Amino acid sequence: ADPGRPGLGALLEDLVRAHRPTRALGSVPGSIPHLAEVDHTRFGIAVAMASGEVFEAGDAAVPFSVQSISKVFSLALALGHDGGSGLWSRVHREPSGTAFNSLVQLEAERGIPRNPFINAGALVVTDHLIDAVGDASGEVLRLLAAPSGRGAVNEDAFAAELARSGRNLALAHLLADLGNLRNPADAVVHHYVRQCSVEMSCADVARAGLFLADDGVGPGGRVVSPAVAKRLGAVMLTCGMYDAAGEFAYRVGLPSKSGVGGGILAIVPGVCAVCVWSPRLDAHGNSIAGAAALAELAERTGWSIF
Ligand code: GLU
Repeated sequence: ADPGRPGLGALLEDLVRAHRPTRALGSVPGSIPHLAEVDHTRFGIAVAMASGEVFEAGDAAVPFSVQSISKVFSLALALGHDGGSGLWSRVHREPSGTAFNSLVQLEAERGIPRNPFINAGALVVTDHLIDAVGDASGEVLRLLAAPSGRGAVNEDAFAAELARSGRNLALAHLLADLGNLRNPADAVVHHYVRQCSVEMSCADVARAGLFLADDGVGPGGRVVSPAVAKRLGAVMLTCGMYDAAGEFAYRVGLPSKSGVGGGILAIVPGVCAVCVWSPRLDAHGNSIAGAAALAELAERTGWSIF
């Protein structure tokens, strides 16, 4: 059911026409002031094929805040350094069933976060990566920017979010208190917020995510082993869409990671990486227009993994 190459460009244009928002439905996160300023009519989509071609439509070349999409890349780096043996004793791999920044569950589960994509888990991944490489957020940025040469921390957005990081600091201190943080809480939160503040376009995020779809090999060469790429896909499918991973697997059927900047990176194993972006979010924190567009894309291409 692959629409073929000429067909894919036209399909993406269809998706832009059908899904670009005209009204400011949904919400933007209050904790990141920068995100509230983004025009609600923004909508971009890009598909990076394993063959090397990239198809783009709408605002696919406009940089946006990747936010939690960066968590896939920090996890890839952390697993790349120890194959997962050390990390997987510090963080589980189960959907959380609570908000992405919940403190309650972390305390109940004695400091072992449910998965690496909720904030508590991502902080543990960042801590792990600091031990492995030192400049954790710098390494995440390098991995994100490697295929395109583009991507940068938005320093204003970073400073503004860091100044409002009470909840992430609380999570980090609780992790430390429960014996699951090795570096100072403020250093871990600094690197974590910095990696979230990277801005890139859909086209460049799709290129950066291609290794996830292609057995660990990206445009610039191998990023992770085929075994790690497979595991990253499994965690994306079960935990990548906040508290709506089950619903998203049902509607779309692709391993995906969402960010509160309104971006979603989705993987079609063996075929391509897709990045869609539109800033307004549903109650779970997922892009409303982005999720709808991915559902239509999966439907029309037959790309669901099921
Ligand atoms: N920097 C955001 C936070 O930690 C990321 C949230 C997200 O995209 O899930 O709250």
